[in-house]
Amino acid sequence: MSLEVVEEAVEPESVGPVPVVAVVGRPNVGKSTLVNRIIGRRQAVVEDVPGVTRDRVPYDAQWNGRRFTVVDTGGWEPDARDRAAAIANQAEIAVQTADVVVFVVDVTVGATDVDEAAVRMLRRSHKPVILVANKADNQNLELEAVSLWQLGLGEPHPISALHGRGSGDLLDDILSALPSPPPIIEDGPRGPRRVALVGRPNVGKSSLLNRVSKEERAVVDSVAGTTVDPVDSLVEMDGELWQFVDTAGLRKRVNQASGTEYYASLRTAGAVEAAEVAVVLLDAGEVISEQDQRVLSQVVEAGRALVIAFNKWDLVDADRRFYLDKEIDRELKRIPWAVRVNISAKTGRAVDKLAPALRRALESWEQRVPTGALNQWLTALTQATPHPVRGGRAPRILFATQAGVAPPRFVLFTTGPLDAGYLRFIERKLREEFGFEGSPIELSVKPRK
Ligand code: GDP
Ligand code: GDP
Repeated sequence: MSLEVVEEAVEPESVGPVPVVAVVGRPNVGKSTLVNRIIGRRQAVVEDVPGVTRDRVPYDAQWNGRRFTVVDTGGWEPDARDRAAAIANQAEIAVQTADVVVFVVDVTVGATDVDEAAVRMLRRSHKPVILVANKADNQNLELEAVSLWQLGLGEPHPISALHGRGSGDLLDDILSALPSPPPIIEDGPRGPRRVALVGRPNVGKSSLLNRVSKEERAVVDSVAGTTVDPVDSLVEMDGELWQFVDTAGLRKRVNQASGTEYYASLRTAGAVEAAEVAVVLLDAGEVISEQDQRVLSQVVEAGRALVIAFNKWDLVDADRRFYLDKEIDRELKRIPWAVRVNISAKTGRAVDKLAPALRRALESWEQRVPTGALNQWLTALTQATPHPVRGGRAPRILFATQAGVAPPRFVLFTTGPLDAGYLRFIERKLREEFGFEGSPIELSVKPRK
C-alpha cells in the first residue's frame, strides 16, 4: 500500500463529499511533518510561496483508495498575542470546518498546559478527535505515549511522523473515525465516450449521424470487450471510437413531427442522462428558439459536458452571420463556456472539428484542480474582492475543495451564506483561471456550524 498525492487524477469517482481532516497542536510538535507524510512530500509547495502562510492550508490526500482533504494549521497557542493569537483562531476555524481532528502532542515533552487548553477547545467543538503522540521514534518513546491517556481524548496513537512509524495504522483510524466513508477513487479501463446527439426536430441530427458514420468509416456494431445497447451507434471519429447513445430513432428516421414536444423532451432527457457529453444541434439558418433553449437547459441541468453545433452552416451568408452573432450574444450568454462548432451535415463542412470539440469538453468535465492551487488562487481573489458587507458583516470563505468531477463540483467552506451574485463572480473567475471550457461546474457553500 502506498501513500500517494492526488494531483490531476481524471478518473470518474463515486459521488460524495470529500471529508476534511484538520491537524492541530502546539508549534513544533510535528504537524507539518505529519501532513507531509500523509500527502507525500510532492505536493507541499504552499509554504514555499512568499506571502502565503501555513494557516489552514488544505491538501488533497488519499489512503486505501479513498480521497480526503487534510488541513495543516499553524501552532495553537491559547494565550498568545497578535499573530500567534490569530493562528490560534485559525486553528479553531479549521477544527470547526473539519469532520475529524487530529490532535498532535510531542511525546518527548508530554502534555503541557497549552495542550490541556487545546483539549478544552476541542471538547467544545464536539468533533471526533484522534490523539497523536508524535516523535515516538523508538519503542521506549512509544511506551511514553501511555501517559497521554490523562488528556481524556481516548487512546493515544504513537507515531513517528519523521520516520513513518505507525502512520499507516493512524490513517486507518482517521478514515474509520469519519462520520461517513470518503469517496472511492475508481480507475480501470473505460469504454468509448458516450455522446448524445440532441436538438429539436429537423436540425439535422440524423443527417449528422449518417455523415459521421459514412465519412469516418463504417459503423461498428460490436466491438470486442464493449457492450453497446442496440439503440446506440458506435462510430469512429478522428481515430477514436465514440458511442452515440439512443440513436435508434435517428437511424430509422422515425417521423419525429408526430411525437409531441413532451415526448421529444423525455427522449432528449434519456439520451442526455445516458451520455457523458451532449452535442446540441442548432439550425444556423434559423432563429434560436425557446425549444432550442430547453434542450440546452436539459444538458446543463443534467451536468453533462456540452458542445453546441451550429448545423446547416452552408446556408449561412454574411447577412445571416451578422444576425447570428448578435443572437448568440443574447441567447447563449448564460452558457458562454460551451464549446461551439459550425458545421454542415449536408456538405461535410467542419464535421472533422466535432471529435476535437468533444474531447475538449470532456477534458474540462473531468478536470481536477489541486486543492493547494485552488486555495492559493481563492485567497488572492477574496483578498482583492471580498464579499460585500451585509448588515455590518461580510461572510468569509475559509477554504475550498473540489469535491468531485464529471461535472466539476466545488465546495466552499464559509463563515456564512454567500450572495448569489458573489457566487456567480467566483464561478466566472474560476473559469477565467482554470478553464472548464465545455463543462458546467457546480459551486456549493457549506457555512461552518
Ligand atoms: P509543527 O510546527 O507542529 O508543524 O512542527 P514541524 O513539523 O515543523 O516539526 C518540528 C520539528 O520536529 C522539526 O524539526 C521536525 O523535523 C521534528 N519532528 C517532526 N516529527 C518528528 C518525529 O516523528 N520525530 C522526531 N524526532 N522529530 C520530529
Ligand atoms: P433531424 O430531425 O434533427 O434528425 O433532422 P434531419 O437530419 O432529418 O434533417 C432535417 C432536414 O434538414 C433534412 O431535409 C436534411 O436534408 C436537412 N439538413 C440536415 N443537415 C443539413 C445541412 O447541414 N445543410 C442543409 N442545407 N440542410 C441540412
